[in-house]
Amino acid sequence: MTDLEGRVALVTGGARGLGEAYVRSLHAAGARVVIADLLEEEGAALAAELGERAVFQALDVTDEAAWERVVAASVAAFGSLDVLVNNAGIANAAPIEHLTLAKWNAVIAVNLTGVFLGCRAVVPQMKAQGSGSIINISSVEGMRGSPGLHGYTASKFGVRGLSQSLAVELGASGIRVNSVHPGLIMTDMTTRIDPARIDIPLGRPGVPDDVAGTIVFLASDASRFTSGAEFVVDGGMIA
Ligand code: NAD
Repeated sequence: MTDLEGRVALVTGGARGLGEAYVRSLHAAGARVVIADLLEEEGAALAAELGERAVFQALDVTDEAAWERVVAASVAAFGSLDVLVNNAGIANAAPIEHLTLAKWNAVIAVNLTGVFLGCRAVVPQMKAQGSGSIINISSVEGMRGSPGLHGYTASKFGVRGLSQSLAVELGASGIRVNSVHPGLIMTDMTTRIDPARIDIPLGRPGVPDDVAGTIVFLASDASRFTSGAEFVVDGGMIA
């Protein structure tokens, strides 16, 4: 049921970190993948390594016009667009008195407005197909508050809410929308966090592959009756 042969999946921020693990797992499950990222060298190298079922598209998720171009190019390359993983994200941290408007705007633009633009860009194609799975990457920080992470937390709660409203609106069109909430996963984003200071019941921080199985599940028919759901993948961290 997790066979993705014939499906086309677009992963934003797919050139490294968690997004790269999603790309590799979706590809291994049989999907054709579009790697969309700011990182042109890394993204193109990953597409070349994966071969003919993978292409790279340069994308800044905050760029409205670029989204139209990337969706059109994806459909032109592979004929459909079945799965969107809105994964691209950034983080910044500051106590509220030191949180500049520029920092706030930057994190909201990429993490929340970028997800909105991506969802809006793929919906016409998915409606025309009568099916689709949109997987929006939030965080455990979209489920609770943490000191210093105000913009990040607001963006990730926003992604969770947007996923809920879209799931309700798009269900009748055969489009499922779910959010995924990873805990501490060791990537370039989290190198400054000491995992020993965080209580994780499963006894270790995550690696990107720990989340990839949930993405393949949500991309596939194994989750065909799942929409508007929130998947916490955190080793028990916020239990
Ligand atoms: P990362 O920094 O390793 O990778 C992020 C990727 O997004 C990079 O490839 C980067 O180039 C790309 N990106 C950034 N801004 C972009 C933009 N404007 N347009 C297109 N691409 C852009 O981070 P990661 O840890 O792999 O995080 C991936 C996602 O998972 C993020 O949304 C993050 O908030 C979320 N997340 C991460 C963790 C964690 O512990 N690592 C936990 C919860 C949620």
